[in-house]
Amino acid sequence: MAIPLDPTTTYRTVVLGIAGNPAVRRLLTVNGRRLALRFVAGETLADALRVADRLHEEGVFSTLNLLGEMVTAEELARRFKDQILELVDAVADRPWARYVSVKLTALGVDIGEEFAFRQLGEILGRARLRGCFIRIDMEDSAHVDVTLRLYRRLRAEGYDQVGIVLQSYLRRSEQDLESLLPLRPNIRVVKGAYKESPKVAFPSKRQVDENYLKLARRNLGAGNYTAIATHDEGIIAHLKAWTAQAGIGRELFEFQMLYGVRPDLLRALAREGYTARAYVPYGHDWYGYFARRIAERPENLLFVLRGIVRSALRPARV
Ligand code: FAD
Repeated sequence: MAIPLDPTTTYRTVVLGIAGNPAVRRLLTVNGRRLALRFVAGETLADALRVADRLHEEGVFSTLNLLGEMVTAEELARRFKDQILELVDAVADRPWARYVSVKLTALGVDIGEEFAFRQLGEILGRARLRGCFIRIDMEDSAHVDVTLRLYRRLRAEGYDQVGIVLQSYLRRSEQDLESLLPLRPNIRVVKGAYKESPKVAFPSKRQVDENYLKLARRNLGAGNYTAIATHDEGIIAHLKAWTAQAGIGRELFEFQMLYGVRPDLLRALAREGYTARAYVPYGHDWYGYFARRIAERPENLLFVLRGIVRSALRPARV
């Protein structure tokens, strides 16, 4: 029997499907660079550091992310790892940005699990020297098992300054959290941004939101550090009230948002005395990230379409 999807899920599925079309990708890559700057700090490390420094002046911390995903050539994956090492070195003298988010498919997990483990080990070794925290982002559901396995291996090797992400749209996440709890995991809870089948992901926003609260409260209640990563004002208000009532100190959690999505809300949380952190992506490979932001909100699609029409109507310059 087909499982009915709600409008939010349907919109995301359709947009991510269209964004995967090579012609659409070409159109957006050529016309979308300027528009992507709403969500991406720029193409260079210097751009990202400039944004992190500016956010710091407003009381907001950063986690920097070198954009990249689905790398299938060893040489490219190695070059990507070298750039992450450079990033870890670059944030060493910026305590407000000593926090790097990485994607395993960019580090070559599809080339081989051992290869990715070695790459991660190098990054975590450097991060330990530099006092930097590494967050392993969670990607599509096909990569969840390998991500959890590598996380467990890293923890078994004694790396503690590493965290993982759980997605509340996945039916399995509650079970995954239970099995991770003995490790006292540092978890970022998100709703989930990929195109997933209703067999693996809850089809309705209500279920995703309920599961979000369940995961966040469970990890916090177990005394583990939790990054509450959402722009959902209802969830934020609920967890502010719940943590205060449960006597959970503010040193045990932080709020995180994507750069360019709700800067006003993030600044307000910082002013209220919470740790507030922006996820600041940079780099040339911005297409997949940008497509996911468009897929989160119909208004973003209109913003992109308006931008494309405007640049098409602009008189050509010679
Ligand atoms: P929603 O219910 O989608 O949105 C709530 C409100 O936020 C909306 O009504 C709107 O006002 C605003 N909003 C949300 N998205 C946008 C947008 N793009 N543009 C403008 N306004 C918007 N996903 C993963 O799958 N893996 C990860 O590792 C991952 N890491 C993340 C790290 C951080 C710091 C954050 C904040 C998100 C991350 N995500 C990740 C993305 C996440 O899964 C969601 O897709 C995204 O956060 C939108 O969901 P939401 O929680 O804001 O709730």
